[in-house]
Amino acid sequence: MRRALVAGNWKMNKTIGEARTLALEVAEGVAGEDLSGVEVVLGPPYLALSAVVETVAGGAIGVAGQDCSHHPDGAYTGEVSVPMLTDAGATHVILGHSERRELMGEGDGLVARKAQAASAGGLTPIICLGEPFTTRKAGTTLSRIAHQVEHSIQGAFASPPPGGFIVAYEPVWAIGTGLTATPEQAQEAHAFIRERLEAIFGLECAQETRILYGGSVKPDNAADLFAGPDIDGGLIGGASLKGADFLEIIRAARTDSASI
Ligand code: PEP
Repeated sequence: MRRALVAGNWKMNKTIGEARTLALEVAEGVAGEDLSGVEVVLGPPYLALSAVVETVAGGAIGVAGQDCSHHPDGAYTGEVSVPMLTDAGATHVILGHSERRELMGEGDGLVARKAQAASAGGLTPIICLGEPFTTRKAGTTLSRIAHQVEHSIQGAFASPPPGGFIVAYEPVWAIGTGLTATPEQAQEAHAFIRERLEAIFGLECAQETRILYGGSVKPDNAADLFAGPDIDGGLIGGASLKGADFLEIIRAARTDSASI
């Protein structure tokens, strides 16, 4: 049985003080009821990372960087390394987010190098992939996803990490747009990703890997989206910025038993 996971991507939102307040609201909400069936990860901006780590200390909530460099140190102005993230207390790192792919021109090869560096440095990567609208319209979504699995994941790992990967399927056209994939579209993509992982890394890895859905998940659509047998939780942007909404989405993941 895979444990559901819900991760919040706060993007470029929240000052340090605001981040503390939101992290505390989530931590208290998670502790106040039985949400232990769901792994929760918060993704604040870098400057708020230590404050969030301090705020959630002692609980089971993970904290993710929103990106990392594949270099350990050096003359890379503006970049943040894996050792810097682990030193600040991060447990996870979001990689290959479509905003980085689109706005910063990151490709699968770079995502793979970052995933390799993160994993070697003790961070769990949350590797994002998904198709733009033109690809969906052209009917080539699955081949696009297969390419991303091969180049962002297979390209980084000769063998899978214990417990499998964390992959986020995020159709680009659904991120921050209010549009969502239908539960059927999401399930089809997730099942396909799992199938590809099985072909590359074997059955055990495919069964253990958590595949999160991301793209305008809200409290009122989360349960339907998470109901698919291959959907193991979500990567949440906008709705993770409000504690009450994020907690509602975590509850929706709990009711989904994420069965294999
Ligand atoms: C995201 O940022 O990964 C995301 C899915 O955003 P939103 O939930 O706002 O669509």
